[in-house]
Amino acid sequence: MLRAKFAVLLAILLIALACFGSAYQANPKLVVILIIDQFRGDYLERYHSEFGANGFRLFTDRGAYFPACYFQYANTRTAPGHATIGTGAYSPAHGIFSNEWWDRTQKRMVSSVEDNATKLIGAEVEGVGSSPHNLLADTIGDELRLATQGQSRVYGISLKDRGAILPIGFSANGAFWIDRDSGAWVTSTYYMDTPPRWLLAFNGGDSAKKYLNLEWKDTDGTLLASTKPHNFDNGKPVSYFELVGSTPFGNDYEFDFARELIQEEKLGNGTVTDLLLISLSANDILGHMVGPDDPSMHAMALALDRQIADFVGFLNQQFGQGQFWLALTADHGVAPTQATDKQLKLPLATPSDGGLRGQLNNDLGAKLHKSGDYVRSVSYPIVFVNTEAFPPNMSAGEAEAQVAEAMKSEGFLNAFTKEQMGNGELPPTALGHIYLNSYSPYGGAWVMGVPMPFIYAATTKAIAEHGAPYSYDQHVPLAFYGPAFKPGVYRDQVEPIDLAPTLAVMLGLNKPTSSTGNVLTEAISQRFEESGPAVSPPKHRPAKEAHP
Ligand SMILES: [Zn+2]
Repeated sequence: MLRAKFAVLLAILLIALACFGSAYQANPKLVVILIIDQFRGDYLERYHSEFGANGFRLFTDRGAYFPACYFQYANTRTAPGHATIGTGAYSPAHGIFSNEWWDRTQKRMVSSVEDNATKLIGAEVEGVGSSPHNLLADTIGDELRLATQGQSRVYGISLKDRGAILPIGFSANGAFWIDRDSGAWVTSTYYMDTPPRWLLAFNGGDSAKKYLNLEWKDTDGTLLASTKPHNFDNGKPVSYFELVGSTPFGNDYEFDFARELIQEEKLGNGTVTDLLLISLSANDILGHMVGPDDPSMHAMALALDRQIADFVGFLNQQFGQGQFWLALTADHGVAPTQATDKQLKLPLATPSDGGLRGQLNNDLGAKLHKSGDYVRSVSYPIVFVNTEAFPPNMSAGEAEAQVAEAMKSEGFLNAFTKEQMGNGELPPTALGHIYLNSYSPYGGAWVMGVPMPFIYAATTKAIAEHGAPYSYDQHVPLAFYGPAFKPGVYRDQVEPIDLAPTLAVMLGLNKPTSSTGNVLTEAISQRFEESGPAVSPPKHRPAKEAHP
């Protein structure tokens, strides 16, 4: 009798304990953050009835699901999106406002992560490595590492370097991405001097090759794509990144690598919580080629649903149910194609021959009575300004203002200069707030345009684009799954910057240095709320530590 009572008590205690979160107690053992590159929030609703029980519906039906999650900034691109999710803050705080920008000292465009002080390692590739050296704020991964004094292991995976690096921050144990041509997994000397043996073995086997020469068919058996190696019209071979990366096999390849990493690095087997971030790039690579409403994007979402279910099955097998937490979001959405816009009578871009850069240079040449290279580069809708081409008595801010005027005459609704944005001289409107959140000190002189809704670069070769301050680019999924989360559909509008501070409080950590997001308390399970996180100091801490 007494023994039975004790057993019941013990069971209740164990269930309650399972709901607590404490990074210091390895509860959960592992947190996995899934970021799907270019995955609009409405896809989860659009395809909901076709999803299986254990993929996306794990999040929408059995997790804490926020169907109205919107980025509140204008620069809806991959690098800013990933940095924003990890830091729980927008561009003025973390600095990453574009995938690439003008570097004053090197006098060229640089990517958000390339780092001359590092080298690529892991495969037979030569070249400059990548690192988080441009980040100006730390991440949820950094806070986990700080709290556990480096005991927690933190890793990032993506087909793209920026996708693997930016959301996990400075102190991560490793970030892995692929060499575009061969598909081999690489990292940089920022993280380690020599690649782990398991990485070389993974690259040495047929891990990449097995996804070549495959046919991707939808559920009806219609051929959607083949990964048979071939050349572009100009004779250049199509890279592994584009060939395999634009099919669900790209996601398979990433999940294969994630499984290998978990097993080889023994993630989730320590005395503290570990963190793995997986940024799934395939959706973005295909999305640009065909647009969001193409049947192949539909098939890609259904394939990813099954792939997520398989991966969760693997996690269950490795760690047991309730021993890991999952978070799901995306770095940005995407605009419909021009064909869809036309069909539904939405605004259409006017195609132009010379491209925006040429047009702006012509306009400014006419206005300033001297032809010149006033615009260095366009990363739509950001225009990088060559201040040296302007008259010597003109300040950088004045040169930016000239370019902004020219942009308005080329059809932008408005254009804000970097100087305006840095000084907070923006209209006190919702749009002004969005552009305030898009500022960065990087990139020399530049101007950020406000395009008309549905209108993106007429200069780009892609069929579909993102990078605008509108709902279709800002709307992303946000959902959590695990015993600490209260299942439900929470329809208040939230932001991706809420993910990091929510995980931080549930793990008993400081939030990232510059995070301005909210804690999504409605998503925290009742038992967790009542008892609070079970915080106790890390076991390795010396007994007689001085506390000033
Ligand atoms: Zn993209």
